[in-house]
Amino acid sequence: MFNKILIANRGEIACRVIKTARQMGIATVAVYSDADRDALHVHMADEAIHIGAAPARESYLLADRILAAALSTHADAIHPGYGFLSENAAFARACAEQGVVFIGPPAAAIEAMGSKSAAKRIMGEAGVPLVPGYHGDDQDPAVLQQAADAMGYPVLLKATAGGGGKGMRQVWSAQEFEQALAAARREAMSGFGDDTMLVEKYLTRPRHVELQVFCDNHGNGVYLAERDCSVQRRHQKVIEEAPAPGMSEALRREMGEAAVTAARAIDYRGAGTVEFLLDEDGSFYFMEMNTRLQVEHPVTEMITGQDLVQWQLQVASGAPLPLLQEQVRINGHAFEARVYAEDPDNDFLPATGTLDFLQPPEESAHVRVDTGVRQGDEVSVYYDPMIAKLIVWDESRERALQRLGTALAEYRISGTVTNLDFLYNLATSRPFVEAELDTGFIERHGELIFHERHQDLARELPLAALALLLQKQADTPVRPQDPYSPWQSNNGWRMNEPHLHRLTLHCHQQEYRVEIEQQSEAYIVRVADEESRLSGHLDGDILHVERDGHRQRGTLARTHDGYTLYMPEGACHFREVMPDTGEADANGAGGGLSAPMNGTIVTLLVEPGTEVQADTPLLVMEAMKMEHTIRAPGAGVVQTFYYQPGDLVDGGAELLNFTPAEE
Ligand code: ADP
Repeated sequence: MFNKILIANRGEIACRVIKTARQMGIATVAVYSDADRDALHVHMADEAIHIGAAPARESYLLADRILAAALSTHADAIHPGYGFLSENAAFARACAEQGVVFIGPPAAAIEAMGSKSAAKRIMGEAGVPLVPGYHGDDQDPAVLQQAADAMGYPVLLKATAGGGGKGMRQVWSAQEFEQALAAARREAMSGFGDDTMLVEKYLTRPRHVELQVFCDNHGNGVYLAERDCSVQRRHQKVIEEAPAPGMSEALRREMGEAAVTAARAIDYRGAGTVEFLLDEDGSFYFMEMNTRLQVEHPVTEMITGQDLVQWQLQVASGAPLPLLQEQVRINGHAFEARVYAEDPDNDFLPATGTLDFLQPPEESAHVRVDTGVRQGDEVSVYYDPMIAKLIVWDESRERALQRLGTALAEYRISGTVTNLDFLYNLATSRPFVEAELDTGFIERHGELIFHERHQDLARELPLAALALLLQKQADTPVRPQDPYSPWQSNNGWRMNEPHLHRLTLHCHQQEYRVEIEQQSEAYIVRVADEESRLSGHLDGDILHVERDGHRQRGTLARTHDGYTLYMPEGACHFREVMPDTGEADANGAGGGLSAPMNGTIVTLLVEPGTEVQADTPLLVMEAMKMEHTIRAPGAGVVQTFYYQPGDLVDGGAELLNFTPAEE
């Protein structure tokens, strides 16, 4: 076994690998960029080497520098995690040449699966079933369109070098083909530096079912059951589960054996995933093979009781697989939800920000949180905005799902927008509970999933106001200079009338004036015409409150722009409007015409001077390798664009001058 390994990655996967290495008594070396100087993975590792600037291209993707770090620290092996260099054959080869073990398959196997089209050819020859499609080298748009026309619509365009759903476009008719091809190619070129496309028949209601496979250097190959990853947005997985609901033992065996055949066809070693589309009639088709550990590997670990990173380390060091096929057992059911800094209501636009408050649900035999961040860390524009993976396990799907809902409701994050409410709505929706899964799930059930949590302001506002008052009072004696202190404020608080407090809260896009009368035993809180009688106190950030004999506990988190009060019913974000700062929402309604985040302008879609209707696409920008379309906020005229294609823009920068039409 290795004495020391280097982890060529960051975030949760680096932390995940370090955990297992530590359990096995293997020393670890982390690598880090400028942005990650203080990151969790750096703290967890025994040693860490700085490898460059924040952009991945100048750090985590620099094969030479990472290899040099391994050599200088005398690491025996490199674990690439996923993403970054994990499927880079040249890197695997360079490691081998320098005598450092690459914890992954041989370079040739990565190469064979690196192109989706080449992979399909190999799998076709090995007798693994394929989705009908065009995987040819001739990339003339006319040839691609001809193939699509012949197959019949809908078709799916895929970047052969693609991954993570990028460079992929559905095309529903011949008329759309040309434009879709151009967009997919642009995304592929900027994401992978290669815009070769394949065209596939688009299955309209498939499930995504993938098999975890493992091969060693002694001729053994096994599958560790399957994962259902059908619930996706923009072809990216959102909630994964294992085993796949409704999977028969016979189909599992058939798909498992096909997956092992696929792995053997390329002389595979280590952990791999063979992804299939499972059609409604039970037929399944090879989609691609990922030659690395997957993000969603924990659900397999939970149901098999195995540590897949440990398996990887054992296989890479030359040991045989820990289990034979007939020894693999499935126990219970597991889910994984990917918690992201992103805005589900805005087309899942990736978000950034400081994690002002971060309180995951408590970990136990049933709840596992794989993360690479701590409270106070920044979700930056440089990397994937995943905050954590929440994994739950129980004896049945029903019970595991119950745990998932509870754990999601308990997850508390402030400082950036997250997909937590969206995940909760999804996990508790009837069709998900009933396992009516297919890859169109989110689109089809949008109404059930994309709604804001019902806010009962009449209930929440008095609590928020009381929490704020208590917080201010707690701040006063210790920090007289605190701007939040009532001593500093001019909001009606008077030295000689300490019993009446007036606050203005901004909550849910509105301002509310609140009056709190402090009595000896209680607080009378008045909002509009409603009066509530509360008692309570603040203990650190825990709010203990009682209303009509009903006692509850909440948490008050301070964020960069206000507060979040977490109560069992949900979170309430608010801030205080200080009378002297006046109207708080300076950049109010207009919106939409500023860059949602740092990025690059891709194309301008209308001529300056054009009159447009609400929602007309005006320009496309790219951020975090995804295209985002900026649309007209209403009817009006586009006067000028401030940027041209190729220009870099900062988040928040105004993109164009737009004159709304007269009413
Ligand atoms: P990536 O490597 O970008 O993840 P995949 O080839 O694995 O791309 O496909 C990702 C997802 O796209 C699948 O899980 C599935 O939902 C959808 N998909 C891919 N191919 C097809 C197809 N032929 N028909 C319908 N959906 C597809």
